[in-house]
Amino acid sequence: MSPQPIYLDANATTPLCAEARAAMIALIDGPWANPSSVHVMGQWARAALDAARESCAASLQCAAKELVFTSGGTESDALALHGTVSAAIAQGRVRDPLNGSHSNERPRPRVVTTTVEHPAVRAACEQLEKRGVEVELVPVDGGGRLDLGALALAVGKPGTVLCSVMAANNETGVLFPLREIAAITRAAGVLLHTDAVQLAGKAAIDLRDLPVELLSLSAHKFGGPKGAGLLFVRRGVTLLPFVAGGHQERGLRGGTENPTAAQGLAAALAQAQRVLSETQERVRGLRDRLERAVAGIPGAQVLGREAPRVANTLCAVFADVSGEELLVALDLEGVAVSTGSACSSGTLEPSPVLLAMGVPVSLARGAVRFSLWSGNTEDELERVCALLPEVVARLRRR
Ligand code: PLP
Repeated sequence: MSPQPIYLDANATTPLCAEARAAMIALIDGPWANPSSVHVMGQWARAALDAARESCAASLQCAAKELVFTSGGTESDALALHGTVSAAIAQGRVRDPLNGSHSNERPRPRVVTTTVEHPAVRAACEQLEKRGVEVELVPVDGGGRLDLGALALAVGKPGTVLCSVMAANNETGVLFPLREIAAITRAAGVLLHTDAVQLAGKAAIDLRDLPVELLSLSAHKFGGPKGAGLLFVRRGVTLLPFVAGGHQERGLRGGTENPTAAQGLAAALAQAQRVLSETQERVRGLRDRLERAVAGIPGAQVLGREAPRVANTLCAVFADVSGEELLVALDLEGVAVSTGSACSSGTLEPSPVLLAMGVPVSLARGAVRFSLWSGNTEDELERVCALLPEVVARLRRR
């Protein structure tokens, strides 16, 4: 069997951490009944779910009632976006664009977001547009920094229900200034949602002093199981469900809950928040070592490095080398990375995030994302630093 590849794709997913694994195994052989069942076995399962929620609330410094378990980041984002717009329509704060009989005096609902969001938010916005909602995209500059002046103008327009900005970009690692953004949205009386899927496990999240109304998380990005997520909904914010059905999750998300996944998520979150400063310092050192190696390669450029970034991410472009070729060549050498390209209908499209940053199409096609995790070692990074210039040079000779 070939040796385990060097895994530098942690923004795609992370392995299950020991704490999450132990918590989930304990529950697989434990209370398996439906948490909604009234009998005592149902109550045991409910207790496991409640304990997971309490643990997540303690990790994030919020109330357990403010947390909704979901199937992951994509669903949390969809619930935040659709749920707030549906509630604003139901409350009559904005008009229902699909219902012509409503008074036109009320403004059309609007959502403000950015040009560099993850497809989870982008797709939810496209669906909202089909419901007649106006979506305004706020641009970023060449370094991936958000235009806060444009954001202030956008959220000030009548009918704006929600502003959704990611906390950390999945491709470049660039952090958006949530506190400054929140000052703008609060002054405008607009709810702020942040997709914090790439922040958790990389920076501390404390909801007592993070002034957002809604926040999405996904367990598998910080050592938890795949298919498990959270949406934080600050007390007082009204949402309607996106996945309707039973009364589960206080009526905000229909469907039988998964206490095993919830326990895994809770254990991973507690562990991630606990060891954060120590792991991120080490990971930053390894990432910076790799960044120096990239900087030494002629025609290479690191994207987003002028902006504040999470510690683990490095997005680089290499002139005259396609990202796909580099990914495959590195894979053959036992190094797992990813590209920013989206493979749609057989054509490799350059990443919309990089295009939104003004990176030319030809260069954006060369983008490769290296995303490190706490399990990476110095030896692994030394090997990648030695290998990368050779592989790029070889591809250019072809
Ligand atoms: N949001 C961001 C920023 C992400 O990076 C991802 C996953 O890559 C998601 C949302 C979707 O999360 P999930 O895979 O849990 O649906």
